[in-house]
Amino acid sequence: MGMFDTIYFDKPYLCPKCRAKIDSTQTKAFESTLANFHVKDCVSHAEEIRVVKEDLFCNKCSESTGQYVYIAVFRGVLVGVADSPRDARHMLNDMNLEKLLLWYHDLFKKYDLEARRNDDVLRFLKNVVDWFEEGRHKKKKGKVSVIDDIVFLFDREYLKKAKDPLDAIKRFLTANQKEKKERDIFE
Ligand SMILES: [Zn+2]
Repeated sequence: MGMFDTIYFDKPYLCPKCRAKIDSTQTKAFESTLANFHVKDCVSHAEEIRVVKEDLFCNKCSESTGQYVYIAVFRGVLVGVADSPRDARHMLNDMNLEKLLLWYHDLFKKYDLEARRNDDVLRFLKNVVDWFEEGRHKKKKGKVSVIDDIVFLFDREYLKKAKDPLDAIKRFLTANQKEKKERDIFE
């Protein structure tokens, strides 16, 4: 099986045959590492300026719609997906330093948020190990020192009710999934 990347559209296409929504296309034009890309993401190297033509495939019909999409890449950044090569060229011509700078700020914000979430997960895992290795789940309430309170501050709500590490992880995952759902609604 060959590797590819997935490019997500800002607005889904409708299959001309079955009217199913088509929200993405696969491509082998870039690094092909099974990555998911959205508009404004870096899909390839900074020197790359080009338009990639891809088949619009309907998963429901299990066949090509006969239509094509044109992926516009400016300086390695996915600037948009167009219906025609002409529209894709327009997207490339519309790019400028001002736009790139604003996009860079958006991307950095996203990166920063992801890095924080990654830190949260690592901290939680370390706290689970410490909590159970030190036998804190057996300690009676009221015997926990102030320093412990600070160390476990962000994860205490998952740890204090958990009977074992698996239970703590489940509580953490449930809370995070709930938070993600709420975030997706506002995005
Ligand atoms: Zn279809």
